[in-house]
Amino acid sequence: MLEILQIPVLNDNYIYLVHEPNGWATAAIDPALAEPVLQALDERGWKLTHILNTHHHGDHVGGNLELKRKTGCAIIAMGRDKERIPGIDVEVAEGDLVSLGHAEARVLDVPGHTSGHIAFWFAEDLALFCGDTLFGLGCGRLFEGHAREMWDSLEKIRSLPGQARIFCAHEYTLANGRFALTVEPENPALLERMDRVQALREQGLPTVPSLLADELAANPFLRPDSPAIRQRLMMPNAQDWQVFAEIRRMKDEFVG
Ligand code: ZN
Ligand code: FE
Repeated sequence: MLEILQIPVLNDNYIYLVHEPNGWATAAIDPALAEPVLQALDERGWKLTHILNTHHHGDHVGGNLELKRKTGCAIIAMGRDKERIPGIDVEVAEGDLVSLGHAEARVLDVPGHTSGHIAFWFAEDLALFCGDTLFGLGCGRLFEGHAREMWDSLEKIRSLPGQARIFCAHEYTLANGRFALTVEPENPALLERMDRVQALREQGLPTVPSLLADELAANPFLRPDSPAIRQRLMMPNAQDWQVFAEIRRMKDEFVG
């Protein structure tokens, strides 16, 4: 079993440390900063062996070079984006396997938020590290991709087991949920989820990770096939990706 440590940094980012106890391997996923990672490693006596980057944004790669310099770890990221990943050592692509001690992650190519965005799927541990692709009750903005591309990426995630834990890179669930309620106000799973999310945030606790099954039931960006959403958006016969595109457009204009 992997040990997964969640480190909150900056305003709302999460860095993850993934430790494989039998192989002494430890990966930092999307280290925005080096210092909190070094401190957490120190406290646990772990040695950093890998950095896994989901995409090139500064709040996901900011700690790469300092961590590499201080620990000698290997940096693994999408080959297609190698010019934008500081210190990249190992270039990966869709379907590649990344070994972390005895554990293994499969690379999913999930463009949309950025053109070179990937996710890491630890199937045995039911853990998905998806960066800024899927969020609690939301999804990433389309900075470099078309809605159709992002929808294909989300479809890949939709096909994972419902018990998959979604380790996304930001604590956005509460704000996302307020928007989600405008899209599907009567969805009982969403109403129930918002109660849970609000209670967690009031106690200062993270709402991440969430279960994929819960996202499928409540996250409007995974539900363009919902009859209630299609009726509300007056898009009864559109394709799923077109309904998704409209929900994304509404979110971009939403003032919470
Ligand atoms: Zn980003
Ligand atoms: Fe981000």
